[in-house]
Amino acid sequence: PELAAVVAAGTVDVPDFPKPGIVFKDLMPLFADGAAFRRVIDGILAHHRPDGRSDGFDVVAGVEARGFVVAAAVAYAAGCGVVPVRKAGKLPRKALSASYELEYGEATLEVHEDAFIAGQRVLVVDDVLATGGTAGAALELVERAGGTVAGFTVLMELAFLKGRERLSPRTVHALLTV
Ligand code: 5GP
Repeated sequence: PELAAVVAAGTVDVPDFPKPGIVFKDLMPLFADGAAFRRVIDGILAHHRPDGRSDGFDVVAGVEARGFVVAAAVAYAAGCGVVPVRKAGKLPRKALSASYELEYGEATLEVHEDAFIAGQRVLVVDDVLATGGTAGAALELVERAGGTVAGFTVLMELAFLKGRERLSPRTVHALLTV
């Protein structure tokens, strides 16, 4: 099957999670299926090759927590390192912070200030792109920490929440757009 179909087949819609009226896309079944997981990781690598191409990457950054699962696998397969973009208060050393609006209140992401070597090309990954608030903060942090964003990839994009527009002019690569 096509990559998009692999992602769709591994996703379960969970109504009213985490709040009434929200249909949460649960990708845990995709992660738990070895063949499907390998396909999606290989799919990301087919799009962003870590070799000598000018649009390659040197390191992978994953957004807590489901992004860690994707980031570590991509990094291992590419033979490069992985950097966690964490929720506030989790990192042990000096970190940069970026806050963004949620429907109610705000959230903060952090990255160690020395996480990247200047100019290092960073592939940023997460499981799902919704409103784009999380991704916007993660991409900002990578750049403030001295990295160069080489790309942003998600397994699934929820197009009706217009995250892609919010992130413009940055580009988003999604294996499946719903
Ligand atoms: P955004 O900031 O784009 O609104 O939300 C994206 C972030 O929240 C991502 O880190 C993603 O893991 C999580 N997220 C939001 N909605 C969903 C969803 O329906 N399913 C999953 N798996 N994650 C979601």
